[in-house]
Amino acid sequence: MKRITIKDKSFEVNITTSEIQARITELARQIDTDFNGKKPLFVVVLNGAFLFAADVFRQITTDCEIGFIRVSSYAGTQSTGHIKNVMGLTQDIAGRSVIILEDIVDSGDTAVYLLNELKKSSPAEVRFATLLFKPAALRQPFRPDYVGFEVPNDFLVGYGLDYDGYGRNLNEIYKLSL
Ligand code: 5GP
Ligand code: MG
Repeated sequence: MKRITIKDKSFEVNITTSEIQARITELARQIDTDFNGKKPLFVVVLNGAFLFAADVFRQITTDCEIGFIRVSSYAGTQSTGHIKNVMGLTQDIAGRSVIILEDIVDSGDTAVYLLNELKKSSPAEVRFATLLFKPAALRQPFRPDYVGFEVPNDFLVGYGLDYDGYGRNLNEIYKLSL
């Protein structure tokens, strides 16, 4: 079992490079078929999804575009807690077929927020693709349309996902070891 250390924590391999790549090829083929001829716009949620997005996008053969967004959260002045904000999309999504590419769905809060925000701009359809999905952590009435891997409720790093900024460059996905 390959183990690594990032800062103060120890991690072990959970999903290998070849498993990741094989699954992404399957997902990309499915998306390519489902959106054939629709000129889809892929919307990548930075930072975590950048590697996943690159590996999906290069396997799409139908005409398509890509755009990037960032979701920021900060403590609001109201007692309701966090206010989030979507930044960065330059394309007009009205009437478009949009596919959100995300690294991981945990509570589902980010996913539901993003779907609601994008729907305000009247896309023809919005679908949600995530490399990783933690069903046990979900607290929103939401299911991603495309899932790479369902994973247990562990903290994961690698292949775009970070621990305190580090670990995104790892080619495998690691889980926190106890
Ligand atoms: P949600 O809004 O679904 O609770 O969380 C989504 C965001 O939380 C992800 O985009 C990701 O940034 C972060 N996140 C959730 N689980 C993990 C994890 O296991 N590892 C890392 N590195 N980030 C996670
Ligand atoms: Mg993310």
